[in-house]
Amino acid sequence: MNKDTSLAYALELDQQDELSRFRESFHIPKHTDGTNSIYFCGNSLGLQPKATKDQLNQELEDWANLGVEGHFHAKNPWMPYHEFLTKNMATIVGAHPHEVVIMNTLTTNLHLMMVSFYRPTPKRFKIIIEADAFPSDRYAVASQASFHGYDPNLAIIEWKPRKGEHTPHLEDLKDLLDTNKDEIALVMVGAVNYYTGQFFNLKEITQLGHQHGALVGFDCAHGAGNVDLRLHDSGADFAVWCTYKYLNSGPGSLGGCFVHERHAQNNELPRFTGWWGHNKETRFKMRDDFEPIYGAEGWQLSNPPILSMAAVKTSLELFNEAGFHNLRNKSIQLTNYLEFLLTQINSDRISIITPTQSNQRGCQLSLDVKNADKSLFESISARGVIADWREPDVIRIAPVPLYNNYEDCWKFVNILKEEM
Ligand SMILES: *Cc1c(COP(=O)(O)O)cnc(C)c1O
Repeated sequence: MNKDTSLAYALELDQQDELSRFRESFHIPKHTDGTNSIYFCGNSLGLQPKATKDQLNQELEDWANLGVEGHFHAKNPWMPYHEFLTKNMATIVGAHPHEVVIMNTLTTNLHLMMVSFYRPTPKRFKIIIEADAFPSDRYAVASQASFHGYDPNLAIIEWKPRKGEHTPHLEDLKDLLDTNKDEIALVMVGAVNYYTGQFFNLKEITQLGHQHGALVGFDCAHGAGNVDLRLHDSGADFAVWCTYKYLNSGPGSLGGCFVHERHAQNNELPRFTGWWGHNKETRFKMRDDFEPIYGAEGWQLSNPPILSMAAVKTSLELFNEAGFHNLRNKSIQLTNYLEFLLTQINSDRISIITPTQSNQRGCQLSLDVKNADKSLFESISARGVIADWREPDVIRIAPVPLYNNYEDCWKFVNILKEEM
């Protein structure tokens, strides 16, 4: 495949794409000239499914008509509402249903997970994160170390790329674990790095961490709905993600959380608790001592915001309809095609810093712009491309298999070529 740079070929690929109809299920923002923009920013905020409004309206109607009775008598009763999301969510991240819950937001969940899974001792108190970690993750781990009385400057160990490279090697993680023998309490890295788009081998990282006596967690903000995470098989102790990026659930929408089943019934773990994590049978008796629900649900704090959950529900149903496996297959084709077109530009002004192997990336490609200033990014934006710019010199583009197509890729590369 991919020897042809013509628009006709892009259109032919769209014709053959069995998932192409899903594009119609989304609102695509318009460019100032009235045409569809080329939306390559699903890694930052996924587009709105057209069905979301109806699902939200359903909950508003039920609230208007039923008031508090909606907890039991709404079309989708609010009491067990989070359970309607579990099966589809678990399929996407590759987990058992009882290992997954939608609750809170990402950074909150990361803290809740570290309360349980970062339990430093004077000997073993360090946390390994990746060098280019997302700022929120860095703040979260640093504040956890401080909270336990440790100096973050000593506690946080960065897993860095080698000199002149952009993506770190697994052997270097092993070296870090060996060098800091018996001192690493937690390995916490992004499953897909937000900057380079590198998808790490979660299973190998987990095995390394566990062999060295550390617990292992992943931030899957850029992984969930994008790559095949297989969280259960990875053996990770926990994972967290958000639903507003690849999972198209709206700005600031809820987060997801995975707790491996080996911890499902471990009541010895410290945790911060709230009534929604308590045994459902006796939740409303309000008198009992806390008794956590089996699995990830036992980490819930509050009764959840149904309006946000309605958006998550709608989006996960679309994923289910398309089939995550099919989406991932299309994603690989689409990103390979975009990469092929980019390499045909043949300019030394841009280079792709994302790994080339499909099993080491999702749909995102990160373009390193030489002699960087923001002008190239600004000129493609003026032509109707919605991508994002990361200081100092990276344009991130993410063709999302649910709503982007081969024509988008072709048009993007053409605009880029012209503006260069
Ligand atoms: C998007 C993102 C976040 C955002 O966290 P919120 O708590 O949802 O605001 C955190 N970490 C990573 C790696 C991200 O990509």
